[in-house]
Amino acid sequence: MRILVTNDDGIYSPGIAALAKAAERFGEVRIVAPDVEMSSAGHSITSSRPLRYKRTPIGDFKAYRVNGTPADCVALGAHNWEKIDIVLSGINIGTNLGNAIWHSGTVAGARQAVLFGLRGIAFSAPATQQEPEFEYLRPALEEALDLLIRSGDFELVNVNFPKELPRGIRWTRQSVRHYDGEVVPGTDPMGRPHFWFVVKPLEPAEEDTDRWAVEQGYISMTPLRLDLTNERQFAGTGVAAHQL
Ligand code: MN
Repeated sequence: MRILVTNDDGIYSPGIAALAKAAERFGEVRIVAPDVEMSSAGHSITSSRPLRYKRTPIGDFKAYRVNGTPADCVALGAHNWEKIDIVLSGINIGTNLGNAIWHSGTVAGARQAVLFGLRGIAFSAPATQQEPEFEYLRPALEEALDLLIRSGDFELVNVNFPKELPRGIRWTRQSVRHYDGEVVPGTDPMGRPHFWFVVKPLEPAEEDTDRWAVEQGYISMTPLRLDLTNERQFAGTGVAAHQL
């Protein structure tokens, strides 16, 4: 099995090394990731300048850093390495729950795989004040990988880990009831106004959603799809076309 590993925190993030190490027992691993942090890059691709990659040392892995986005990295990785079976994205430092999925470069890396007809799984864990540490997640991560890689039923899954040692795995839906984006004003050292567009968790989360599961101490696994069509409204339109 050929496993391409990417992320949006940049190739030198400890999260990508932890994911690559856990993935190693499932197949041949190659890392292709952005050369700098691309968090919140969403599913953007680089179209106004050329992409380049360079070999870079990440443990014993074949690893390449790219001057582009997570989606660019998956495109380049799939171009240069034939017959990839699955793309793993992460482990992101910070959860990607609910509406954060729209902004997430981590999820976009996995989604780009699905656009190419491959499978994609995104992994995220809560950010803390301390230096990121992924060792506590290792057994749970391996179990999640085992479940998702071997089953083959799931083409796109968004996985989020809880803050503490996980109690188990819950299948969840994306929490979209509230939008949790907020603009926070501030002042720079020159006295000029500036703004941070931040995504803050809203409480309480609805039961069976991704955020709810993580708050309850579970690993959340949300199966996603590419088709954004509003099925209910589409069915309600009744006619195929309007006469003009
Ligand atoms: Mn990130």
